[in-house]
Amino acid sequence: MTEYVPSTAPVPEGEIIVERGSTARDLGAKLNRSAGDVIRFLLLQGEMVTATQSLTDDMMEIFAAELGAEIRLVDPGEEKEAELLAKFFEEEEEEEEDVESEPRPPVVTVMGHVDHGKTLLLDKIRSANVVAGEAGGITQHIGAYQVEWKGHAITFIDTPGHEAFTAMRARGAQATDIVILVVAADDGVMPQTVEAIDHAKAADVPIIVAVNKMDRENANPDRVLQQLAEHQLVAEKWGGDTIVVEVSALQGTGIDDLLEQLVIVAEIEELRAPVDGRARGVVLEANLEVGRGPVATIIVQRGTIRVGDPIVAGAAWGKAKALINDQGKQIKSAGPSTPVQVLGFSEPPHAGDEVRTATDLAHASKLGETRAQRMRLSGHLPVAAAAGARLEDIFEQIQRGETATLNVVLKADVQGSLEACTESLKKLERDDVKLAFIRRGVGGINENDVQLAAASNATIIGFNVRPDKRSRDMAAGDGVEVRTYEIIYKLIEDIESAMIGMLAPEYEEVVTGEAEVREVFRIPRVGAIAGCMVREGTITRGSKVRFLREGTIIWKGAVNSLKRFKDDAREVQTGFECGVGLTDYQDLKEGDIIETYEEREIPRV
Ligand code: GDP
Repeated sequence: MTEYVPSTAPVPEGEIIVERGSTARDLGAKLNRSAGDVIRFLLLQGEMVTATQSLTDDMMEIFAAELGAEIRLVDPGEEKEAELLAKFFEEEEEEEEDVESEPRPPVVTVMGHVDHGKTLLLDKIRSANVVAGEAGGITQHIGAYQVEWKGHAITFIDTPGHEAFTAMRARGAQATDIVILVVAADDGVMPQTVEAIDHAKAADVPIIVAVNKMDRENANPDRVLQQLAEHQLVAEKWGGDTIVVEVSALQGTGIDDLLEQLVIVAEIEELRAPVDGRARGVVLEANLEVGRGPVATIIVQRGTIRVGDPIVAGAAWGKAKALINDQGKQIKSAGPSTPVQVLGFSEPPHAGDEVRTATDLAHASKLGETRAQRMRLSGHLPVAAAAGARLEDIFEQIQRGETATLNVVLKADVQGSLEACTESLKKLERDDVKLAFIRRGVGGINENDVQLAAASNATIIGFNVRPDKRSRDMAAGDGVEVRTYEIIYKLIEDIESAMIGMLAPEYEEVVTGEAEVREVFRIPRVGAIAGCMVREGTITRGSKVRFLREGTIIWKGAVNSLKRFKDDAREVQTGFECGVGLTDYQDLKEGDIIETYEEREIPRV
């Protein structure tokens, strides 16, 4: 064996971009070193890696430091995304520099403690000042609305509270210009009031205080001012600079005052944006709607979005098929600070995603797909904090007085249920049990999910979705726990029970057979028969069955009739064709999967 001689070639100068999750081979190549150089160095540090194994950030950084090289770690695809943005979108911004900016309406979020009157105040403002189309025109809840008060437009975000506000900021988006802090005059500053103050301050957004419920007998506005001063919000009346307005959302008093103050603050803030040019904005909410497809409510922040514009938000892209305003009317275009529903995205984007219109559909799709790829890739990275507990072990950990973190890969059938499951799960967090979503996504449970869960010691939770055969086998092989649910409260109940060490006996659904639909025949008076090929196990007449399309459960029931050629059969084995009679589910398609299963109780160890 020849003796190993470390390379002494000079390392490239300047900042070197390295993708996270690079292998010893990739890293070596960027730094003029061989994979062997990297492996040997890491071995001396006590880390055993192979040439094709992903390295952690730390490993890459110490190797670079050893060589005196300056590296910058980026997510896979980040470089490409930045390049695309610069190429397709930035030139427009240069053009826009010349475009005059004009005053734009303020975007307002109402925050405060629960029951202090946020919702009622928003409703009152809306009903009294909605840009009147027809008298009593129907307003649509699209997540935000705009009112006109004495010739000034004001946009309100319709989800009161700081959760949505914070979730957006966590994604780097800021949709709000002014916060209205609602404090009930009879209740005073409460914990969520303080949280709201903290969030607004952290975001550096001006606060206007609305002291509400002034109609109440025990209203005590002075006490509220006193408490606010303790949180560095000193009212003007007391020599500070915090605007305080006394209102009663119930009786509608003080609301004009409040709106007037909003207009004044908006003027002081000099909120401006160019009206011409491509639009840029932020997604407030998005979901998948039957018959309409992905629907996203956005607030335009600069420029104008028009029907037909190519659009991209996160990984979602498309052409704006229709724009719908807060009164449910189709509109042709929307300018700065206007809330509008956009139809035509390839998938629902996420709240907080930046929306842009492009000059060309190809630019939008390229950017969207690059981001999708980047998200997929980053799912494969070695997860830094992999110290999570499995559902089954979580109680032991709590008992030992440790803080347990339950790592979760959550998959659901549609965006709406994904959000609902996320919210419900988050509510279960306690001081000693934290939840970390390693991945959340729409669609069946696939091998990527299992891989990621295995790498990060996570439990996979599926809502109305199932793992396919290969991911099921992989999960069993890797010891990854996969739990699937069709009812939210069952899901919540299970997690809650796990937290108190009382996980109910688990019924394992053992898949007994799997067949692929090859063709669907319609026979008069009999109904539809699915011609299938049994791929795994045995399909038995009378057994429980579910139909899956791309991993999502589309129907559940029982196998009513089973035929081999023309004859009735009791069971059909792997490798044979069969006909499965469908009495009530008629909508099967070629490529769908028929999965039969039985339930068995798993003994607890
Ligand atoms: P939120 O949780 O902050 O959105 O509070 P809501 O808007 O749901 O109001 C909570 C309760 O307080 C409801 O029963 C409202 O009718 C009531 N409320 C809200 N504003 C006023 C007010 O100005 N005066 C009185 N008396 N009750 C109010």
